[in-house]
Amino acid sequence: MAQIRDLLGGSPTLSFEFFPPKTDAAARGLEKTVYELRRANPTFVSVTYGAGGTDAHRTRDLVVELTLNHPFPTMAHLTCMNHRRQDLVTLLEDYRDHGVRNILALGGDPPADGSAPSGELTYASELVDLVRTVDDFTVGVAAFPELHPRSENTGQDRRFLAHKLERADFAVTQFFFDAAPYFRMVEELASLGCHTPILPGLMPVTNPASIARFAAMNGTRVPPGLWARISEAGDDDRLEIALEAASQLGHELLDGGAPGVHLYTLNRSDVAMRVAENLGFVSAAS
Ligand code: FAD
Repeated sequence: MAQIRDLLGGSPTLSFEFFPPKTDAAARGLEKTVYELRRANPTFVSVTYGAGGTDAHRTRDLVVELTLNHPFPTMAHLTCMNHRRQDLVTLLEDYRDHGVRNILALGGDPPADGSAPSGELTYASELVDLVRTVDDFTVGVAAFPELHPRSENTGQDRRFLAHKLERADFAVTQFFFDAAPYFRMVEELASLGCHTPILPGLMPVTNPASIARFAAMNGTRVPPGLWARISEAGDDDRLEIALEAASQLGHELLDGGAPGVHLYTLNRSDVAMRVAENLGFVSAAS
């Protein structure tokens, strides 16, 4: 199975993010989504990991299933907070033994009840180092163009990010709706001597209530003009506005030199496919 690091640096990459379904019906829905999105010939796909390791087996099983049954590489998200080192190593060895070659190494979040995080690792950079001890995986990490919500100042955030990126092969960003903070982050990292590829994450806003919740959680700014158009629109118009906004942002990012785009699909194929088409990733013959 290909390693993502070998696919970066040429033509812009296209990747799709999925979450592990919780019911049989949702699993059948995701299977259909994945087959539909194969037409876009994605460079890779990724599978999220439940907060703090909840339902970790679902992520593991889906990652292994996608790796075995599809031609594109699958990347497993993995968080380290609230985990024991040996449990992480055991999971990484299991991935290695099933041909999974790509890991997104994440810090994860402290418990929602405000209690102190447990576990033997605190930061994603420590997980990157741990992953490297198990095998020669491609290791991705997270980046936050508008700063990580727990970061107190930009300079410190960028220094920690540069330190993490020096150990990783690439990064994927949190979703955002304005290209300027992405390009500013890339420049700030370059001024620290860091040139690791950073794939921007695009989330088409099809459900205003959940986007507002995610955006507040992640410190993402939703431009007021886009927010007003989306909130006032009916379902069909909303879909078209979401597509237009995501496609326009994608064009701006790719034209400005972003190495690819990562689409948060929410396990739906329709919107992701149309954004991929609008960005020129799907040829008429496919
Ligand atoms: P870190 O890199 O550890 O950074 C967290 C904070 O600590 C930042 O403020 C950073 O500046 C600071 N920091 C870093 N190093 C140090 C240091 N040495 N000393 C002091 N401070 C430091 N969460 C999930 O639970 N499951 C998922 O599947 C998942 N997928 C994600 C995918 C993407 C693309 C992104 C962007 C996020 C994802 N998340 C996921 C969320 C992520 O786990 C949280 O945002 C988490 O709060 C931070 O993760 P991180 O990897 O950026 O952490």
